[in-house]
Amino acid sequence: MTYRVLTALFAHETNTFSRQPTTLANYEDYVLAFGDAIPDAIAGSVLELVGVENAAKELGWDLTHTVAAWATPSGPVAREVWDKCAGAFLDAAKNQGPFDGVVLTLHGAMTTVDYADAEGELLTQLRAIIGPDVPVAITLDLHANVTRLMAEHADIICAYRTYPHIDQVTTAERASHILQRAMTGEVSPVVHLARRPMLIGLDHGRTTTDNPMTQLLARADGLEAQDDGVLTISLQAGFSPADFAEVGPSVAVTGNGRDARFQTTADDFMEYSWEQRHFDSNEYLSVDAAIAKATEFPGSNGPVIISDASDNPGAGAYGDSTFLLAGMINAGIKNAAFGTICDPETAAELISAGVGASISVHLGGKIDAAYGPPLELLGEVITITKGSYVAQGPRWRGVTQHLGPTAIFRVGGIDIVVASKRVQCTELETFTHAGIDPAKKDIVAVKSMHHFRAAFEPISRTVLIVDSGALATKEYSRLPYKNLPHPIFPLDLD
Ligand SMILES: [Zn+2]
Repeated sequence: MTYRVLTALFAHETNTFSRQPTTLANYEDYVLAFGDAIPDAIAGSVLELVGVENAAKELGWDLTHTVAAWATPSGPVAREVWDKCAGAFLDAAKNQGPFDGVVLTLHGAMTTVDYADAEGELLTQLRAIIGPDVPVAITLDLHANVTRLMAEHADIICAYRTYPHIDQVTTAERASHILQRAMTGEVSPVVHLARRPMLIGLDHGRTTTDNPMTQLLARADGLEAQDDGVLTISLQAGFSPADFAEVGPSVAVTGNGRDARFQTTADDFMEYSWEQRHFDSNEYLSVDAAIAKATEFPGSNGPVIISDASDNPGAGAYGDSTFLLAGMINAGIKNAAFGTICDPETAAELISAGVGASISVHLGGKIDAAYGPPLELLGEVITITKGSYVAQGPRWRGVTQHLGPTAIFRVGGIDIVVASKRVQCTELETFTHAGIDPAKKDIVAVKSMHHFRAAFEPISRTVLIVDSGALATKEYSRLPYKNLPHPIFPLDLD
């Protein structure tokens, strides 16, 4: 029989400490499409909905698209976004049903101006429409903060199993295939959730090294293979810059039926993540230490990549912190590239000065000077672009990124990508679209925490991580949390 399945992508990772609200314009800058326009909008991309479409084709579903929405992380999501995106999905649930099943592709760390647990709210409202019996599968970013409401209203939870996240499509396919088994009545999935008082854990979910995350993923693979009742095990590292009671790592075991052994598995996995809570595979360097190490690093086979991790727009930071750039300029670094500084005012000044102009500007530090004041710099405008390109790297392949009007500003030996919009620097195209070949530089700085590794590590000599104390700092005690349960690791539990 042909099953009717409702689907949507509505995602945001909300940094509740950010001063920048998340508006519809932020979604328009990344992914925003509705209804029948969605298949064309997502074609050829790595978005989850492509995985849902693959499954629909294979399983013969009649699929109803509603919304595809993804925006760069920033502050709480505006009501206009919720009304339009959640509205499109819930209206379809109400008016185009009945449906046999739902695949909802989410991030899992969305906070709106009205709802701290936005995904829990969305699922609650969905259940009120479709009732308790229609199976609902959700996919999550592995940095989701999974809440009691999400576990209660979703029947199947599948988070990514990679960080850098390069398995969006297969994650959605996995969730869809379990949903199919639920719709046929072969299984009755129930989510069993475990959490501990932790703000961080599982080595932030990195899957590029041997760590508690990859060890537990291997254990999950083994259990899924051995026990037919274990439909899937989902590990979430959590998203810490969210001032919210249910923040932090979690384990969700989707079992066939409610059974104590599934809850025990979830609890055992969380116990291991608690035991391993101090594990961190990153060495966070100061700006000066990173620059010293980069300039002395032996070899010439590709650039040293310096990650400006704490100013990562992908974690909601402003992308205009100047600490690392100032350090590189003061150290007289040559043959380097810096991607990016988000500063629309300065980009406009540079563009109006024109290619070849020598000009003095105040760059960066416009949103919060606590993360580095604007830098007074004299340099040359090298290139001007519209700032749009189709990403080719494993993280965002097929998705068009929009830096907005962009100028390459050369200061000393550093080509700085001055952008008008905040985009995490995960793609080589951030540089190559403007004629800069990062592989030919000695040092390349990127405002990204870990996702840059997917495209940049293969061309690099080595990678260095800087925590310069910007908004996405790992020094959690600097963040003004008010809503956390206490005690919680690492703020007041060792
Ligand atoms: Zn993530």
